[in-house]
Amino acid sequence: MKTLDQIDFKNKRALIRVDFNVPLNEKFEVTDKTRIEAAKPSIDKILKDGGSVVLMSHLGRPKGKDKAFSLGHIAQTVSDVLGKQVNFVDDCIGKNPEEASKNLQPGEILLLENLRFYDEETAGDKAFAEKLAKHGDVYVNDAFGTAHRAHASTTIVAQFFNEKCFGDLLAKEIESLDKVLNSDKKPVTAIIGGAKVSSKITVIENILDKIDHLIIGGGMTYTFIKAQGGKIGNSLVEDDKQEIALEILAKAKKKNVEVHLPVDTLIADDFNNDAQTKTVKIDEIPAGWIGVDVGKKTIENFGKVIEESKIILWNGPLGVFEMSNFAFGTISLGKDIAKATKQGAFSLVGGGDSVAAVKKFHIEDEVSYVSTGGGAMLEMLEGKSLPGIEAIKK
Ligand code: AMP
Repeated sequence: MKTLDQIDFKNKRALIRVDFNVPLNEKFEVTDKTRIEAAKPSIDKILKDGGSVVLMSHLGRPKGKDKAFSLGHIAQTVSDVLGKQVNFVDDCIGKNPEEASKNLQPGEILLLENLRFYDEETAGDKAFAEKLAKHGDVYVNDAFGTAHRAHASTTIVAQFFNEKCFGDLLAKEIESLDKVLNSDKKPVTAIIGGAKVSSKITVIENILDKIDHLIIGGGMTYTFIKAQGGKIGNSLVEDDKQEIALEILAKAKKKNVEVHLPVDTLIADDFNNDAQTKTVKIDEIPAGWIGVDVGKKTIENFGKVIEESKIILWNGPLGVFEMSNFAFGTISLGKDIAKATKQGAFSLVGGGDSVAAVKKFHIEDEVSYVSTGGGAMLEMLEGKSLPGIEAIKK
């Protein structure tokens, strides 16, 4: 793996693809700096080496050059986080930015305007990528969140550089996933939750060869239970995925993977936080009731598996955690994973909503690694090679 420490950045300009797609409020202030903070180690390292830095990112999904999506809004925050002056240039290609990047001195930082002001970015346009490439001597990709896209700045641009590498953040993502998928420590446990079986089938099928325990939770549970003949009331179900659910269970058995499904569930008489609730056996949900979280016995069962695990992958919540009365299962799971981590297990939380959950319940510092890329993480778990990663390896 090509990483920052393999390159001497002295007197070189590093063009870094970062992920500064941060949330802004109505005053265009950054409301969550996590992504900017995450890019700091790579930037610091290059500057310390005697190089200069050109930062490029997208922000939101602008239609054309819509100033509401200008990276100019975040320049001061980037500067505050880095503790250094950041010069912003109001375009990402053309005369002005080219001049600005050409004149960069060691230790200086330049932030380019939103890449997605040009449709060529997401189209992966080669001529556009070549123009971007003019800003640096070395290309560094540190944006895991977009590594699964063959965009100009994430993939195509790499072909114009002899020297290119992964930034610290992206390297850490790849290493963490490798620790989970190619571990020699056992047992390996994957917890797959979330809303639907359909969005996780490929992930589950791909990881069956790598794991010892598969814990299933969340909305997808009820498709498995119905497929096995259980009563699921009005719970979320994908009827056309029942057969696949049974196939997954059969495949797991063949590969000696122990599957742990919920044995009880919290049910609600309406899909809202103030609905009436009770706990019932997982396969005895009365008509009109909806499964919204796992029950206490299930949490106990899952806890025992997690306690014994050496490697833990968590993707997807166990219930409708956004509603406080249905969040208990997800919170308990997070605590169990944190406890196992303290006792020496390696835990990786990745993919969309489980990341939101660990943040919401403040356990992000108690797990080994929280992935920064939802879609990218899922694609890696599906066994796909990501264009942004391949482009650096080439
Ligand atoms: P995903 O993006 O597939 O990981 O799904 C995350 C979503 O699944 C969250 O918004 C949860 O509210 C939702 N979810 C979890 N459990 C259930 C459930 N029992 N019924 C409906 N939605 C659920």
